[in-house]
Amino acid sequence: MHDLLIRNALLLDGLGSAPQRGDLAVKDGKIAAVGKADSAARDTLDADGLALMPGIIDNHTHYDAQITWDPWVSPSPALGVTTAIIGNCGFTIAPCRPRDRERVMRNLTQVEGMAIDALRAGIRWDFETVPQYLDMLEQQGAAVNIAAFVGHSSVRTYVMGEDATKRAASDAEVRKMRDIVLEGVSAGAIGFASSTSPAHNGDGGLPMPSRAADEKEIAALVGTLKEAGRGVFMLTKGGHTSMTFLEQLAADSGRPVVVAALFHDSMKPEAVFQELAAIGAANERKHRLVGAMSCCPLTMDFTLRSPYTFESLDSWKEAMRLKGDAYGAKLGETGFRDALREEIARPGHFRLFNGEWDKVHVVESARPHAENRSIAELAREAGKDPLDTMLDLALGENLDTVFSAQLLNTDESGIARMLRDPNALVSLSDAGAHLTFFNDSGFGLHLLGRWSRERGVLSLEQAAWRLTGHPASIYGIRDRGALKTGYHADLFLFDPQTVNRGPNRRVYDLPAGQARLTTDAIGVHGVWVNGVRIADQNGLRKGAPLPGKLLREFAA
Ligand SMILES: [Zn+2]
Repeated sequence: MHDLLIRNALLLDGLGSAPQRGDLAVKDGKIAAVGKADSAARDTLDADGLALMPGIIDNHTHYDAQITWDPWVSPSPALGVTTAIIGNCGFTIAPCRPRDRERVMRNLTQVEGMAIDALRAGIRWDFETVPQYLDMLEQQGAAVNIAAFVGHSSVRTYVMGEDATKRAASDAEVRKMRDIVLEGVSAGAIGFASSTSPAHNGDGGLPMPSRAADEKEIAALVGTLKEAGRGVFMLTKGGHTSMTFLEQLAADSGRPVVVAALFHDSMKPEAVFQELAAIGAANERKHRLVGAMSCCPLTMDFTLRSPYTFESLDSWKEAMRLKGDAYGAKLGETGFRDALREEIARPGHFRLFNGEWDKVHVVESARPHAENRSIAELAREAGKDPLDTMLDLALGENLDTVFSAQLLNTDESGIARMLRDPNALVSLSDAGAHLTFFNDSGFGLHLLGRWSRERGVLSLEQAAWRLTGHPASIYGIRDRGALKTGYHADLFLFDPQTVNRGPNRRVYDLPAGQARLTTDAIGVHGVWVNGVRIADQNGLRKGAPLPGKLLREFAA
């Protein structure tokens, strides 16, 4: 007797095979039969032509803090996600000594846009080391399966304290860091994550700790993965980190390297394809590199109080160090503005904002005639420079003006070409982070709705593979990511005719009443994690037990 029988579904196996009509049976949290299931079940569901695929694996999330107060890791499970990888870019909360908690929270506030009041009120600090953090997650449970990276910035802060953001490490410090990374990976972390990206700044505009590391340190820490014989190295790379160096890391460690963050930049339309070509060439030499890309347009809502959009620019750094009146005065200085203008005009790599003023709009302003118009348009009308137009508008209304910038991935033909690249990994939802700027936790629904159904860039079975079997194989996630007998029953049932993500909306349900953007699912009919149904056509079933497992065993 099966526990569950789903009949008459369009089965997408997660491996890219042609869809087939059939049944799927579940027993004891695992898939007991696929295709034809004849024995009876306690629960039967007629899928009536809906599509059934493995649950989505979201390989780029930042739920490290949120999960300690919200084991439902909202909103991902309602959006078809059954496994989330946390700790990306190396921005974890473990390891952390009590004395460093405030520092870590302040850094997360700056770099990942998490409200400091929410972090202070919300984080449960029942751990100090990575193994203790993993144990805590395991005991607490979660709605979805969780795999966690050891995070470079946290390891560095643990070993170097305040100096972590300021200088290269000594040999002795690197040895200590190595021990911690190895301890974490041995205890069940999925790998090691870091960032060299200039977009990643912590408290007071200082670079996040990992950015102060030299290549020797990075190589030593990635070397732990060779010793452990498992794990992935993920890096959000700055332009100065060469693909040659990353290929060398893959060659020396024998482990896969996930290279983030690949976006299409309309001002330099070929740049991302050069990166993908370099990754492809490395693979031909049998070195495993993959390019983590986003399938969503990157649009950010922001005010000039904390414009993540500009914070990767060197010339913005001067302002980031300041607060209050001094900050406002800096934004008014001609010299400061000239330096910004000059930098934006210069070609740069992996930069969020590239001077596309026609794609920056005013969303909320005290001057109603400005709303919904682009900065380019307002500047032309006033006969002014666009940067001056924007800064003057914001300074004139106490920096309360809300802007929305379409930054990257604005050209759909560019994204389509990336999606067809065999060396690209669909990634970068950033779920759990940048909560008031943007929200791509529904990236899987967007891939299925926009890119498969509406644009036909990927077949349904290819889209399903991109979201399940493909990441499972790269990250060594065992017995998940495919509809196969004996695999864990992580399942996602949806209507291929309507599946999509809904519009973003603002809710105030974070600790201390802080705001975040969330999105509703369209066309989702069921989500099961380890055989337990956590969502149906009405959304989450919050009464259910927490079925997600902490994943600790990964393929060699
Ligand atoms: Zn990230």
